[in-house]
Amino acid sequence: MTPISENSSIPSVGFVGWRGMVGSVLMQRLQEEGDFARVDPVFFSTSAAGGEAPQFADGAGTLQDAYDVDTLAKLPIIVTAQGGDYTGEVYPKLRAAGWDGLWLDAASTLRMEDSSIIVLDPVNRDAIDAGLAGGVRDLVGGNCTVSCMLMGLGGLFRNGLVEWGTSMTYQAASGGGARHMRELLTQFGALHGSVARNLDDPASAILDIDRAILAQQRHPSLDASQFGVPLAGSVIPWIDGDLGNGQSREEWKAGAETNKILGTDSNSGTRIPFDGLCVRVGAMRSHSQALTLKLTEDLPVPEIESIIAADNDWVRVIPNTKEDTLAGLTPVAATGSLEVPVGRIRKLEPGPEYISAFTVGDQLLWGAAEPLRRALMIATGNL
Ligand code: NAP
Repeated sequence: MTPISENSSIPSVGFVGWRGMVGSVLMQRLQEEGDFARVDPVFFSTSAAGGEAPQFADGAGTLQDAYDVDTLAKLPIIVTAQGGDYTGEVYPKLRAAGWDGLWLDAASTLRMEDSSIIVLDPVNRDAIDAGLAGGVRDLVGGNCTVSCMLMGLGGLFRNGLVEWGTSMTYQAASGGGARHMRELLTQFGALHGSVARNLDDPASAILDIDRAILAQQRHPSLDASQFGVPLAGSVIPWIDGDLGNGQSREEWKAGAETNKILGTDSNSGTRIPFDGLCVRVGAMRSHSQALTLKLTEDLPVPEIESIIAADNDWVRVIPNTKEDTLAGLTPVAATGSLEVPVGRIRKLEPGPEYISAFTVGDQLLWGAAEPLRRALMIATGNL
């Protein structure tokens, strides 16, 4: 892939949204991999233009105005993790101004456009290479749960072994952003505070504690401004918008994006039906999901495990024992790691082609920042 650069082999890259949750993890990964030596960064801000650019990139100067289309249009590559509202406002203006640079985005706005590729290179490197060679200019990171699921179970999908699937998710507070994580912790603190004295007393009645917690959860003073209802000590079985047909937008993304990444569709008769319920739980970071897959054939479990394990360098099969599951298949175990554990693989009662699986992934790494980082490196000829 030829580096996209006008005058130098080190292309200038505009970074927007670098201090948000996804952006911070992206910056961390770029530093860890030494990637700032491979690109010439220009930092933008929607809120602090003129301020100092972050220290980790030498000589990056001052923060540019992220709404200044003329400045953005001078760059061959823009990477944004600013969010969908920003993309919706700035991207059309840039393209209307004739900018034909490469736009890499964490937001969902452009994901399902025919003109974009959802990037997850361990799964669809061929499509990324072909798209870039063919002039595709919009590379978009996938939905966090979809990307983590395909990093874990891509081997079964890519070998044509999945007839259909369901994914029941257990999504962490961090999927909503920094303020959501804070709210969850604030709620936990308020709940604990309401029963702390009783907890210290081993003789206190558990039903008294239970009643006090429920009263606190239902008390109007409990901050639930981000999630709308308490998440601490509860679950919220709805994520993202209401499509009006009983499905949440997050649930719709599972089928739509999975098939787009895999290059399967209804027109060619290759679409894989994939659906389920998406649920917010009180985990801090890392999304989990329980899958039921109907395979196209009756394969022995060890062979299924081998196919899953062989698919990429990051998937890790967890033996289906209680001990291994508790040690390696929880958000606490997976957070901060690029490894994607997959476990609880077993045959289900309906028949030998039906299997269960449970997977956990750090949705800020493979679910957001890492595919974007790698797409940037692919596009600039560094991966
Ligand atoms: P976020 O944490 O809310 O950050 C977005 C922007 O908010 C920042 O770039 C920053 O812009 C501004 N901001 C305002 N106050 C801030 C503060 N106190 N700390 C940090 N930033 C602050 O959003 P995000 O979760 O990273 O999501 C960004 C995009 O990625 C969204 O489109 C989201 O849907 C998508 N995505 C998120 C995840 C996830 O797990 N969170 C996963 C996949 C995709 P300025 O610096 O310009 O002010």
